[in-house]
Amino acid sequence: MTAPATRLAEGPPSWARLVLAPNPGPMTLDGTNSWVLRAAGQSGCVVVDPGPLDEPHLERLASAGPVELVLITHGHVDHTESVGRFAGLTGAPVRAKDPRWCRGGEPLTAGEAIEAAGLRLTVIPAPGHTADSVAFAVAGGEPAILTGDTVLGRGTTVVTWPDGDLGAYLVSLARLGECGAVPVLPGHGPMLADCAAACDHYLTHRAERLDQVRRALAAGAATARDVVEIVYADVARTLWPAAEMSVRAQLAHLKELGEWREPDRDGDSP
Ligand SMILES: [Zn+2]
Repeated sequence: MTAPATRLAEGPPSWARLVLAPNPGPMTLDGTNSWVLRAAGQSGCVVVDPGPLDEPHLERLASAGPVELVLITHGHVDHTESVGRFAGLTGAPVRAKDPRWCRGGEPLTAGEAIEAAGLRLTVIPAPGHTADSVAFAVAGGEPAILTGDTVLGRGTTVVTWPDGDLGAYLVSLARLGECGAVPVLPGHGPMLADCAAACDHYLTHRAERLDQVRRALAAGAATARDVVEIVYADVARTLWPAAEMSVRAQLAHLKELGEWREPDRDGDSP
């Protein structure tokens, strides 16, 4: 679970610099990756995901400035907590898919091309981890893709019910995979060398997990809790509530596919 999905990149493109936020944890790996982007010869920069409200971290980011634009990959707190403070510190507009995180800038739209700091960033919708997740693709001589939490540098992404949507996530992975063998600048963990390979790995992992759930259903499981008891039998019970949220996302997906339906409340459904 903690191995990288594919080989690591040797280093970031010349236009990208990582500023790691000091918020390591089980869900954030080493901490949130705040990315400072700037093409050679440009004075202004773009900051992607200023991250947690940590003053020294924000000062480090602001000192890379002048900051022309702040972009948000998705609304989770470890990516957005500092949005208001960072906008105040830099005066830069903040843009996100969800208008809740925008400050002085318009919400991002699918397929939009943003020109800033001498770069052209294309907004790729990537719902699944959250409904508002987006990726930013940079083309040119040193292409790369900023994936937020849709593809991580280590392990796999959490898709939990009800914020996450597994069906949408699988579509998003296929879409990001079409970007080809370009480096991944993730929201957490190290850079990966190959976006297409990482997405393939994630899709395989998800298919295996879904098959485990299908087998549990075939063995008589009727509810998310039943599935957890079978699939996660050898996992500490303290992790079961988290596992249940993940299984619920899988069951919601199987329901969409017509492979599962909720048992009746009286428990008399087949
Ligand atoms: Zn997230």
